[in-house]
Amino acid sequence: MFSYRHAFHAGSHADILKHLVLIELIHYLQEKPGAITFIDTHAGAGIYNLQDGFAQISKEAQLGIERFATKVMPSFENLLRQVQFENQTGHLSIYPGSPFILARLLRPQDRLKLFELHPKEILILQGNVAQLPNAKQIDVYASNGFSGLKALLPPPGRRGLILIDPAYEDKNDYRLLETTLAEGLQRFATGCFALWYPILPRRESIALVDRLKKVLASYSRPWLQAELRVANVSGERRLQASGMLIVNPPWTLKEKLALALPELKTALAQDNKADFHLSSAEV
Ligand code: SAM
Repeated sequence: MFSYRHAFHAGSHADILKHLVLIELIHYLQEKPGAITFIDTHAGAGIYNLQDGFAQISKEAQLGIERFATKVMPSFENLLRQVQFENQTGHLSIYPGSPFILARLLRPQDRLKLFELHPKEILILQGNVAQLPNAKQIDVYASNGFSGLKALLPPPGRRGLILIDPAYEDKNDYRLLETTLAEGLQRFATGCFALWYPILPRRESIALVDRLKKVLASYSRPWLQAELRVANVSGERRLQASGMLIVNPPWTLKEKLALALPELKTALAQDNKADFHLSSAEV
Protein backbone atom coordinates (compact mmCIF):
# COMPACT_ATOMS: atom_id res chain seq x y z
CA MET A 1 0.00 0.00 0.00
CA PHE A 2 2.76 2.47 0.89
CA SER A 3 5.30 1.88 -1.85
CA TYR A 4 4.68 5.26 -3.48
CA ARG A 5 7.15 8.02 -2.56
CA HIS A 6 6.72 11.25 -4.43
CA ALA A 7 10.44 12.04 -4.19
CA PHE A 8 10.91 9.67 -7.15
CA HIS A 9 8.73 11.95 -9.26
CA ALA A 10 9.55 15.42 -7.90
CA GLY A 11 10.11 17.93 -10.68
CA SER A 12 8.84 15.54 -13.37
CA HIS A 13 6.76 16.63 -16.38
CA ALA A 14 3.62 15.65 -14.44
CA ASP A 15 4.60 17.84 -11.48
CA ILE A 16 5.29 20.73 -13.81
CA LEU A 17 1.83 20.57 -15.43
CA LYS A 18 0.12 20.18 -12.03
CA HIS A 19 2.07 22.94 -10.30
CA LEU A 20 1.78 25.36 -13.18
CA VAL A 21 -2.01 25.01 -13.07
CA LEU A 22 -2.01 25.19 -9.27
CA ILE A 23 -0.11 28.49 -9.23
CA GLU A 24 -2.45 30.03 -11.82
CA LEU A 25 -5.44 29.03 -9.66
CA ILE A 26 -3.89 30.49 -6.50
CA HIS A 27 -3.10 33.81 -8.22
CA TYR A 28 -6.59 34.05 -9.67
CA LEU A 29 -8.32 33.39 -6.33
CA GLN A 30 -6.07 35.88 -4.58
CA GLU A 31 -7.17 38.71 -6.87
CA LYS A 32 -9.92 39.28 -4.30
CA PRO A 33 -8.95 40.11 -0.69
CA GLY A 34 -11.26 37.60 1.05
CA ALA A 35 -9.58 34.77 2.97
CA ILE A 36 -9.10 31.50 1.09
CA THR A 37 -8.84 27.97 2.46
CA PHE A 38 -6.44 25.85 0.42
CA ILE A 39 -6.73 22.08 0.85
CA ASP A 40 -4.21 19.54 -0.45
CA THR A 41 -5.72 16.08 0.15
CA HIS A 42 -2.55 14.18 -0.85
CA ALA A 43 0.35 16.37 0.22
CA GLY A 44 3.50 14.24 0.01
CA ALA A 45 6.65 15.41 1.82
CA GLY A 46 6.20 19.08 0.95
CA ILE A 47 9.59 19.81 -0.64
CA TYR A 48 12.23 17.58 -2.25
CA ASN A 49 16.00 17.44 -2.53
CA LEU A 50 16.77 16.45 -6.11
CA GLN A 51 20.23 15.24 -5.02
CA ASP A 52 18.69 12.68 -2.63
CA GLY A 53 18.57 8.95 -3.27
CA PHE A 54 15.00 8.68 -4.58
CA ALA A 55 15.28 11.54 -7.06
CA GLN A 56 18.71 10.40 -8.20
CA ILE A 57 17.43 6.89 -8.93
CA SER A 58 14.51 8.01 -11.06
CA LYS A 59 16.17 11.10 -12.57
CA GLU A 60 12.71 12.34 -13.54
CA ALA A 61 13.66 15.94 -12.75
CA GLN A 62 16.35 15.75 -15.44
CA LEU A 63 13.62 15.34 -18.04
CA GLY A 64 11.41 17.84 -16.20
CA ILE A 65 12.36 20.92 -14.22
CA GLU A 66 16.05 20.72 -15.13
CA ARG A 67 15.14 21.37 -18.75
CA PHE A 68 13.95 24.81 -17.73
CA ALA A 69 17.22 25.80 -16.05
CA THR A 70 18.36 27.47 -19.27
CA LYS A 71 15.00 28.34 -20.84
CA VAL A 72 12.92 31.40 -20.08
CA MET A 73 9.28 31.04 -21.03
CA PRO A 74 6.71 33.67 -20.09
CA SER A 75 3.98 31.15 -19.26
CA PHE A 76 6.35 29.32 -16.96
CA GLU A 77 7.67 32.32 -15.09
CA ASN A 78 5.55 31.95 -11.92
CA LEU A 79 6.58 28.35 -11.26
CA LEU A 80 10.20 29.10 -12.07
CA ARG A 81 10.16 31.98 -9.62
CA GLN A 82 9.03 29.63 -6.84
CA VAL A 83 11.67 27.06 -7.74
CA GLN A 84 14.32 29.79 -7.74
CA PHE A 85 13.15 30.97 -4.32
CA GLU A 86 13.94 27.52 -2.88
CA ASN A 87 17.33 27.45 -4.65
CA GLN A 88 18.91 30.70 -3.58
CA THR A 89 22.44 29.49 -4.28
CA GLY A 90 21.49 29.48 -7.96
CA HIS A 91 22.10 25.74 -8.26
CA LEU A 92 18.95 23.69 -8.88
CA SER A 93 18.84 21.08 -6.12
CA ILE A 94 15.46 21.65 -4.44
CA TYR A 95 12.00 21.25 -5.93
CA PRO A 96 8.92 22.46 -4.02
CA GLY A 97 5.92 20.15 -3.86
CA SER A 98 2.36 21.45 -3.75
CA PRO A 99 2.43 22.14 0.05
CA PHE A 100 5.40 24.48 -0.29
CA ILE A 101 4.05 26.10 -3.44
CA LEU A 102 0.82 26.83 -1.58
CA ALA A 103 2.51 27.81 1.68
CA ARG A 104 4.85 30.33 0.03
CA LEU A 105 1.89 32.07 -1.62
CA LEU A 106 -0.36 32.25 1.45
CA ARG A 107 -1.44 35.74 2.47
CA PRO A 108 -1.95 36.42 6.20
CA GLN A 109 -5.71 35.87 5.86
CA ASP A 110 -5.38 32.50 4.04
CA ARG A 111 -5.22 29.01 5.55
CA LEU A 112 -3.69 25.76 4.29
CA LYS A 113 -4.85 22.23 5.20
CA LEU A 114 -2.62 19.29 4.28
CA PHE A 115 -3.42 15.56 4.43
CA GLU A 116 -0.82 12.81 4.20
CA LEU A 117 -1.26 9.14 5.08
CA HIS A 118 2.17 7.59 4.51
CA PRO A 119 3.80 6.92 7.93
CA LYS A 120 7.25 8.17 6.84
CA GLU A 121 6.10 10.90 4.48
CA ILE A 122 3.89 12.52 7.14
CA LEU A 123 6.85 12.89 9.52
CA ILE A 124 8.93 14.53 6.81
CA LEU A 125 6.01 16.80 5.89
CA GLN A 126 5.46 17.83 9.52
CA GLY A 127 9.17 18.63 9.90
CA ASN A 128 9.25 20.64 6.68
CA VAL A 129 6.10 22.60 7.49
CA ALA A 130 7.36 23.39 11.02
CA GLN A 131 10.26 25.30 9.47
CA LEU A 132 8.03 27.60 7.43
CA PRO A 133 7.67 31.14 8.80
CA ASN A 134 3.89 30.90 8.35
CA ALA A 135 3.51 27.40 9.87
CA LYS A 136 0.77 28.71 12.19
CA GLN A 137 -1.49 29.15 9.16
CA ILE A 138 -1.06 25.51 8.19
CA ASP A 139 -2.76 22.40 9.59
CA VAL A 140 -1.20 19.03 8.82
CA TYR A 141 -3.45 15.98 9.20
CA ALA A 142 -1.95 12.49 9.45
CA SER A 143 -5.08 11.03 7.95
CA ASN A 144 -6.92 10.04 4.81
CA GLY A 145 -7.45 13.00 2.48
CA PHE A 146 -10.32 11.38 0.58
CA SER A 147 -12.45 10.88 3.67
CA GLY A 148 -11.10 13.88 5.63
CA LEU A 149 -12.03 16.46 3.01
CA LYS A 150 -15.77 16.39 3.77
CA ALA A 151 -15.35 17.80 7.27
CA LEU A 152 -13.56 20.89 5.88
CA LEU A 153 -16.26 21.78 3.36
CA PRO A 154 -17.61 24.30 2.79
CA PRO A 155 -14.70 26.46 3.98
CA PRO A 156 -15.29 29.73 5.84
CA GLY A 157 -16.58 32.41 3.47
CA ARG A 158 -17.08 29.72 0.83
CA ARG A 159 -13.74 30.59 -0.74
CA GLY A 160 -11.54 27.57 -1.31
CA LEU A 161 -9.26 25.63 -3.61
CA ILE A 162 -9.01 21.87 -3.29
CA LEU A 163 -6.13 19.99 -4.89
CA ILE A 164 -6.74 16.24 -5.12
CA ASP A 165 -3.54 14.53 -6.22
CA PRO A 166 -3.66 10.82 -5.32
CA ALA A 167 -0.81 8.39 -5.90
CA TYR A 168 -2.99 5.90 -7.87
CA GLU A 169 -0.78 3.04 -6.64
CA ASP A 170 -4.02 1.53 -5.35
CA LYS A 171 -6.61 1.20 -8.10
CA ASN A 172 -9.32 2.12 -5.56
CA ASP A 173 -7.97 5.67 -5.86
CA TYR A 174 -9.78 6.06 -9.19
CA ARG A 175 -13.16 5.25 -7.62
CA LEU A 176 -12.39 7.21 -4.47
CA LEU A 177 -11.57 10.28 -6.54
CA GLU A 178 -14.98 10.09 -8.15
CA THR A 179 -16.90 9.71 -4.88
CA THR A 180 -14.79 12.36 -3.14
CA LEU A 181 -15.52 14.81 -5.94
CA ALA A 182 -19.26 14.10 -5.74
CA GLU A 183 -19.29 14.50 -1.95
CA GLY A 184 -17.19 17.64 -2.23
CA LEU A 185 -19.57 19.24 -4.71
CA GLN A 186 -22.55 18.33 -2.58
CA ARG A 187 -21.09 20.46 0.22
CA PHE A 188 -19.29 23.10 -1.81
CA ALA A 189 -20.69 23.27 -5.34
CA THR A 190 -18.98 26.58 -6.14
CA GLY A 191 -15.54 25.45 -4.97
CA CYS A 192 -12.58 25.21 -7.28
CA PHE A 193 -11.40 21.58 -7.38
CA ALA A 194 -8.17 20.69 -9.20
CA LEU A 195 -7.76 16.97 -9.87
CA TRP A 196 -4.53 15.46 -11.17
CA TYR A 197 -4.61 12.10 -12.99
CA PRO A 198 -2.10 9.87 -14.78
CA ILE A 199 -2.81 8.79 -18.36
CA LEU A 200 -2.03 5.08 -18.45
CA PRO A 201 -3.02 2.17 -20.67
CA ARG A 202 -5.14 0.62 -17.91
CA ARG A 203 -8.91 0.30 -17.69
CA GLU A 204 -9.42 2.52 -14.63
CA SER A 205 -7.28 5.27 -16.08
CA ILE A 206 -8.96 5.24 -19.50
CA ALA A 207 -12.44 5.42 -17.92
CA LEU A 208 -11.61 8.02 -15.26
CA VAL A 209 -12.17 11.36 -16.97
CA ASP A 210 -15.51 10.35 -18.52
CA ARG A 211 -16.68 9.19 -15.12
CA LEU A 212 -15.61 12.46 -13.50
CA LYS A 213 -17.32 14.46 -16.24
CA LYS A 214 -20.56 12.55 -15.54
CA VAL A 215 -20.34 13.63 -11.91
CA LEU A 216 -19.78 17.23 -13.03
CA ALA A 217 -22.73 17.08 -15.44
CA SER A 218 -24.98 15.85 -12.64
CA TYR A 219 -23.99 18.93 -10.57
CA SER A 220 -24.05 21.23 -13.64
CA ARG A 221 -20.47 22.31 -13.01
CA PRO A 222 -18.14 23.83 -15.64
CA TRP A 223 -14.74 22.26 -16.15
CA LEU A 224 -11.43 22.67 -17.92
CA GLN A 225 -9.22 19.77 -18.92
CA ALA A 226 -5.51 20.07 -19.71
CA GLU A 227 -3.33 17.11 -20.67
CA LEU A 228 0.33 16.85 -21.55
CA ARG A 229 2.03 13.90 -23.23
CA VAL A 230 5.82 13.90 -23.42
CA ALA A 231 6.30 10.59 -25.24
CA ASN A 232 4.41 7.58 -26.52
CA VAL A 233 6.47 4.43 -26.31
CA SER A 234 4.46 1.25 -25.87
CA GLY A 235 5.46 -0.88 -22.90
CA GLU A 236 7.24 2.08 -21.22
CA ARG A 237 6.85 1.83 -17.44
CA ARG A 238 7.53 5.47 -16.72
CA LEU A 239 4.60 7.85 -16.84
CA GLN A 240 4.41 9.50 -20.26
CA ALA A 241 1.28 11.63 -19.94
CA SER A 242 -0.95 13.18 -17.32
CA GLY A 243 -3.79 15.61 -16.98
CA MET A 244 -5.55 18.10 -14.78
CA LEU A 245 -9.30 18.46 -14.55
CA ILE A 246 -10.31 21.77 -13.01
CA VAL A 247 -13.85 22.16 -11.72
CA ASN A 248 -15.29 25.70 -11.61
CA PRO A 249 -12.19 27.05 -13.39
CA PRO A 250 -11.37 30.76 -13.51
CA TRP A 251 -12.43 32.19 -16.86
CA THR A 252 -8.86 33.33 -17.58
CA LEU A 253 -7.30 29.88 -17.20
CA LYS A 254 -8.08 28.45 -20.63
CA GLU A 255 -6.37 31.34 -22.40
CA LYS A 256 -3.28 31.00 -20.18
CA LEU A 257 -3.04 27.26 -20.73
CA ALA A 258 -3.51 27.70 -24.49
CA LEU A 259 -0.21 29.60 -24.40
CA ALA A 260 1.53 27.42 -21.84
CA LEU A 261 0.78 23.93 -23.16
CA PRO A 262 2.54 24.30 -26.55
CA GLU A 263 5.57 25.71 -24.72
CA LEU A 264 5.52 22.85 -22.22
CA LYS A 265 5.22 20.32 -25.03
CA THR A 266 8.25 21.77 -26.82
CA ALA A 267 10.32 21.98 -23.65
CA LEU A 268 9.43 18.57 -22.22
CA ALA A 269 9.08 16.38 -25.34
CA GLN A 270 10.94 13.09 -25.17
CA ASP A 271 9.95 11.93 -28.64
CA ASN A 272 7.96 13.18 -31.63
CA LYS A 273 4.68 11.87 -30.16
CA ALA A 274 4.64 14.62 -27.54
CA ASP A 275 1.28 16.33 -27.55
CA PHE A 276 -1.24 18.30 -25.50
CA HIS A 277 -4.99 18.60 -25.18
CA LEU A 278 -7.09 21.46 -23.85
CA SER A 279 -10.88 21.44 -23.65
CA SER A 280 -13.63 22.86 -21.51
CA ALA A 281 -17.36 22.87 -20.88
CA GLU A 282 -19.57 25.66 -19.64
CA VAL A 283 -22.81 24.96 -17.83
N1 SAM B 1 0.55 16.77 -4.02
C1 SAM B 1 1.98 16.47 -3.94
C2 SAM B 1 2.74 17.46 -4.78
O1 SAM B 1 2.23 17.90 -5.83
O2 SAM B 1 3.86 17.81 -4.40
C3 SAM B 1 2.28 15.04 -4.38
C4 SAM B 1 1.43 14.00 -3.74
S1 SAM B 1 1.77 12.36 -4.22
C5 SAM B 1 1.24 12.29 -5.87
C6 SAM B 1 0.50 11.51 -3.38
C7 SAM B 1 0.71 11.42 -1.87
O3 SAM B 1 -0.52 10.96 -1.28
C8 SAM B 1 1.76 10.43 -1.43
O4 SAM B 1 2.66 11.08 -0.57
C9 SAM B 1 1.00 9.34 -0.66
O5 SAM B 1 1.71 8.84 0.45
C10 SAM B 1 -0.20 10.11 -0.19
N2 SAM B 1 -1.42 9.31 0.05
C11 SAM B 1 -1.80 8.13 -0.49
N3 SAM B 1 -3.07 7.82 -0.13
C12 SAM B 1 -3.50 8.85 0.65
C13 SAM B 1 -4.73 9.16 1.29
N4 SAM B 1 -5.77 8.34 1.18
N5 SAM B 1 -4.83 10.30 1.99
C14 SAM B 1 -3.78 11.16 2.09
N6 SAM B 1 -2.59 10.93 1.50
C15 SAM B 1 -2.45 9.80 0.78
